Amino acid sequence: MRILVVEDDPLLGDALQVGLRQSGFVPDWISDGIGAEHALATTDYVAVVLDIGLPRRSGLEVLRRLRAEGRQLPVLILTARDTLEDRIGGLDNGADDYLVKPFEMAELAARLRALVRRSGGSSQPNLVHGAIELDPASHRVSLDGQTVTLSAKEFSLLQVFMQNSGRVLSRQQLEEQLYGWDDDTGSNTIEVYIHHLRRKFGRDVVRTVRGVGYLMPRETA
Ligand code: CA
Repeated sequence: MRILVVEDDPLLGDALQVGLRQSGFVPDWISDGIGAEHALATTDYVAVVLDIGLPRRSGLEVLRRLRAEGRQLPVLILTARDTLEDRIGGLDNGADDYLVKPFEMAELAARLRALVRRSGGSSQPNLVHGAIELDPASHRVSLDGQTVTLSAKEFSLLQVFMQNSGRVLSRQQLEEQLYGWDDDTGSNTIEVYIHHLRRKFGRDVVRTVRGVGYLMPRETA
């Protein structure tokens, strides 16, 4: 799950990137408002962590413009202590949640999981697809109640498919959710991970739609 982190404090930005990666997200980190808008225009993020006090263009302005374009992706704003106006301004301009600095990384990760889940139309924490159950918080996956061991990328890929069942996803869309700017994407890796998922969950868990991409069929039960 690709997340845009916009934070101009280098220590906090670095900590956010490390912490979110440990929680299974794929974060890209930008430290100013103009750069954030460029990233948002060119990459498909599932959520944004947005500092309010930013150089070149404030977080509030970035948020205002994003909503003016009709973009719905979840935005969690970060504000300094004692800045009630920033929190109110952020929520009034379309932020979905906020955290006041300093905050715990575990709380940020939990709030992001909840935002992403709700933006997909679900309040249930676990994703269920037939006999497969995936818990985004604990990173556990089971098939018919039996734990299945997955690598971090296999887990992320399965999660993307489960959140988009019934939709054909192109290889590029899958790569965007699996790899950040700093990741080295070898060729054919998506195909390799899909091969692993089929071996672990059955051949039909993900279908190839020739020339278009891949599909986890909607449940028919
Ligand atoms: Ca700042």
